[in-house]
Amino acid sequence: MDNLDTGVLIAIVYGGVVIAAFWLAMIIWAYRDMRARSRDGLASLLVGVMVAILTVPGLFIYIMLRPRETLSEAYERSLEEEALLQEIEEKAHCPGCGQRVDSAWQACPSCHTRLKRPCRVCNHLLELSWEICPYCASPQNQYIPEDAVVNTSRHVARRAPEPPAISDKWLANSGTSSTTQGYAASDVPQYVDDNY
Ligand SMILES: [Zn+2]
Ligand SMILES: [Zn+2]
Repeated sequence: MDNLDTGVLIAIVYGGVVIAAFWLAMIIWAYRDMRARSRDGLASLLVGVMVAILTVPGLFIYIMLRPRETLSEAYERSLEEEALLQEIEEKAHCPGCGQRVDSAWQACPSCHTRLKRPCRVCNHLLELSWEICPYCASPQNQYIPEDAVVNTSRHVARRAPEPPAISDKWLANSGTSSTTQGYAASDVPQYVDDNY
């Protein structure tokens, strides 16, 4: 009789401890889960209290109503969105008319603004302001603004009176013709035409 009673008692105590531990674990889990989903400490506390009072049904109610994302998931999503947005914004816009342009374009198709120019040596597209090609390290001419390149005749007329050109000519007269040749070949852009 005594033995049976002790056995039953042990079983009851064991069951009670297990249930109590389970109950505590549920509260802690719900509290932590809410902490991961909300910065509001009071909300987490309320969730803990609700689960403590309603036990398993309370846990189910919490799982049904909890915020869908954890804070870290929300943060990651915002980062992704930001990166996407930046990608869209980084798509170049024409400085002349604001239209979206491709990074491989040399000129804007709608307003004819020069966007890039090819390297004289390796033909990689370069920014207009670059004075050296980053791909082959060959020096580039300074970019001449569009109005000077509109047509070839004006282009030649404008370039001629420049002081360095004159001094080059003096040098050329004394024998070195290679400098003038190099000058002419490099300075006349290949892509200039009359309807540009
Ligand atoms: Zn444009
Ligand atoms: Zn190059």
